[in-house]
Amino acid sequence: MDQELVAGRTCGACNVCCVALTIDDPALQKVQGYRCRNALPGNGCAIYEARPDTCRTFYCGWRRLRWVRETLRPDISGVLVQMHQKASAATGPGRMGVVVTLLNRAALKAEGLAETVAAAVAADVPVTLQIPGPPGHTYGQAQVNDALLGPVRARDKAGVLEVLRRARAMGRHGDHKPIVLKPRPALPPLPPGEGRGEGSQAAQIPARDASL
Ligand code: SF4
Ligand code: SF4
Repeated sequence: MDQELVAGRTCGACNVCCVALTIDDPALQKVQGYRCRNALPGNGCAIYEARPDTCRTFYCGWRRLRWVRETLRPDISGVLVQMHQKASAATGPGRMGVVVTLLNRAALKAEGLAETVAAAVAADVPVTLQIPGPPGHTYGQAQVNDALLGPVRARDKAGVLEVLRRARAMGRHGDHKPIVLKPRPALPPLPPGEGRGEGSQAAQIPARDASL
């Protein structure tokens, strides 16, 4: 469903999703912080034609959401935006939100970070700030909408960044546990030339620009 992608944005030299994500797919398991064993130098994938469904259908928020600022390509900015939907048996499909991962300290200085987060908060899109633990360990997470509402309403860019800075500091020093993925049974081989399907893409999240 390429039509959902933002025109003019391509992954280029980025391969952040092949490193930063935990992937628990029947065809590939890896934990966050380690480069996938199939990743090639220069952003290639050694199994591109047969890559797992998870990889085939994944695009980060920078590729999919127009209001994520142009400057936030993940490898350049250190900011990885992902779309996220919380569902439960009781309530069914939940609201769509975004997870904003600050991959490194420099991410806090990324041009467009404050504006992007403010746009989501102003549009009442749930924003979870996520801080990676050491490679192979869980993330620290906090939902930051309530804390950001005041600075966003006041158009206080420094205030937005201060909330993010404090949330990052708390997330870094949180309890990061080793990620343990349950072994999955091997998949039967596919007939030659047959893919595993395109899967589905989640809906776009509308947001508006917030002036800071
Ligand atoms: S993180 Fe986004 S821009 Fe980077 S390779 Fe993955 S989908 Fe492309
Ligand atoms: S299988 Fe290919 S696309 Fe998927 S994470 Fe590994 S290198 Fe990236």
